[in-house]
Amino acid sequence: MKIVLIIAFLLQAANSLSQSKQVCFSYDDLPVVGYGVEDPAFRQNILSRLIKSLKQNKVPAIGFVNEAKLYGQSGIMNDQINMLRQWIESGLELGNHTFSHLDYNTTTLTEYTQDILKGEQFSRQLLAKANMDLKYFRHPFLHIGNSKDKFDSLNMFLSEHNYITAPVTIDNEDYVFALAYEKARVKGNSSLMKQIGADYLIYMEEKLVYYENQAQSLFGRNISQIVLLHANLLNADYAHSLIQVFRKNKYDFVSMDQALKDDAYKTKITVFGKWGISWIDRWAMSRGEKGDFFKGEPRTPDYIVSLARAKN
Ligand SMILES: [Zn+2]
Repeated sequence: MKIVLIIAFLLQAANSLSQSKQVCFSYDDLPVVGYGVEDPAFRQNILSRLIKSLKQNKVPAIGFVNEAKLYGQSGIMNDQINMLRQWIESGLELGNHTFSHLDYNTTTLTEYTQDILKGEQFSRQLLAKANMDLKYFRHPFLHIGNSKDKFDSLNMFLSEHNYITAPVTIDNEDYVFALAYEKARVKGNSSLMKQIGADYLIYMEEKLVYYENQAQSLFGRNISQIVLLHANLLNADYAHSLIQVFRKNKYDFVSMDQALKDDAYKTKITVFGKWGISWIDRWAMSRGEKGDFFKGEPRTPDYIVSLARAKN
């Protein structure tokens, strides 16, 4: 009887281990995506509240910086650098996202790599003061090279400069929701803002379930997911709620280091195009998956797209 119980316990433990789910939260375009709002207090408020939610919920996030955003008309803006400092001092990590958010599909390797080096100046110094390294690189638009040659040559550069690529598995259009949200804010329409926020959480949960299922189809198990978000007002207002969505789905929050320990990230990418897509989709295409595999991806609601596109 005892042995049966022990075996049952072990099976249950093994099962819960294989069911453990991990996610890394990554935020692009730091210090802040302000949609043209230059007011330092407004920008500071976005990042401060985002940091507060991450800290309170013990989420070890990483932020990817465009250092071009640290410069104003009269040179370097210390308040923007201070915001990066606050991020690091809160125990969060920083990575490089190029200096000026270049699109690798439309730039040469030389231009692109110069922009990467230009984009590490302040981040590297700030991290060093906290005994941290600048080691992760995130491609703007998730454009990793539209041919094998471009992909390989950039990878060679990155490894020579001790950079590790930071992939994305839960790709989404948070930036479209965020732009619609900003338009609603400018109009002073707080009920519309609430509606957008609520629909954003529903959409993100659908995305999470979709990519979880995609990982199951491809690997037969859960993988450590990496979600792409942006440092904007919507994500500052809804960080706590979004964290709860992942918690409700039994996710633990991990660092980029921890997420990348998953062997899924060793999967080779052998198919290239102009697309900026989830790594799960890249791996699936590289393994020869076709049409049906990619069906059912959640769509951004039409009213959000229209609002985001509207002139005012
Ligand atoms: Zn970006």
